[in-house]
Amino acid sequence: MKILVISDIHANLTALEAVLRSAGSFDATWCLGDLVGYGPDPNECVQRVRALPNLTCVKGNHDEAVSGTDDLEEFNGDARRAALMTRQMITPENMSFLQSLPDMVEREAVTLVHGSPRNPVWEYILEKSTARQNFASFGTDCAIVGHTHFPMIFALDADEHKVHTFIPLADVPVNLVGRTILNPGSVGQPRDNDSRASFAILEPASMTWELRRVTYDIAAVQERIRLKGLPARGADRLADGW
Ligand code: ZN
Repeated sequence: MKILVISDIHANLTALEAVLRSAGSFDATWCLGDLVGYGPDPNECVQRVRALPNLTCVKGNHDEAVSGTDDLEEFNGDARRAALMTRQMITPENMSFLQSLPDMVEREAVTLVHGSPRNPVWEYILEKSTARQNFASFGTDCAIVGHTHFPMIFALDADEHKVHTFIPLADVPVNLVGRTILNPGSVGQPRDNDSRASFAILEPASMTWELRRVTYDIAAVQERIRLKGLPARGADRLADGW
């Protein structure tokens, strides 16, 4: 069985379509949230993700912001403005879908969550210390997270005290051993100084994780962001992948 693992699409349909074209065949889809926010295509992205085979999807902080009713004080200016505009753009049916997403689920003995196992929607796992604290908050060997937009593997040492970090190379399968926290990077808003859309393929039977990167037509997305009057920073940063 092959599982397509995607996260942080951020309403970038062009990047999502490029990922789906390059992914080849897969049996199931795991999406770590943030389908919307920043980008110009929230409805198209939600609909495309909903139609993917055997979908499991958890809720991201942008999904929560767009589908909630509060005034988004915790968001920075651009993220807040984009979320409020997305609220106006999104159809009632897609809004209901975002509202229905769970914070955390388990599939194939893997924990899926947007932020972190102990704080599912909001915490960023960027550092070893945060990863180490989170290993106590899930019962499976492996957890997959998104949210940082940075592809990464955190592996807990057998003595259960040390955490090692790896930035996986694209197209090089990694055999996962012991307890790990994985991040497939971001489809629609990469932030590791690589502008290519990021995703992963997981084969749970052998616990093989393969990071993939794919180029897409960034200028077309930037143009749609500007046309829709969304914050320009969300367009500018796509070119540099930060
Ligand atoms: Zn995100």
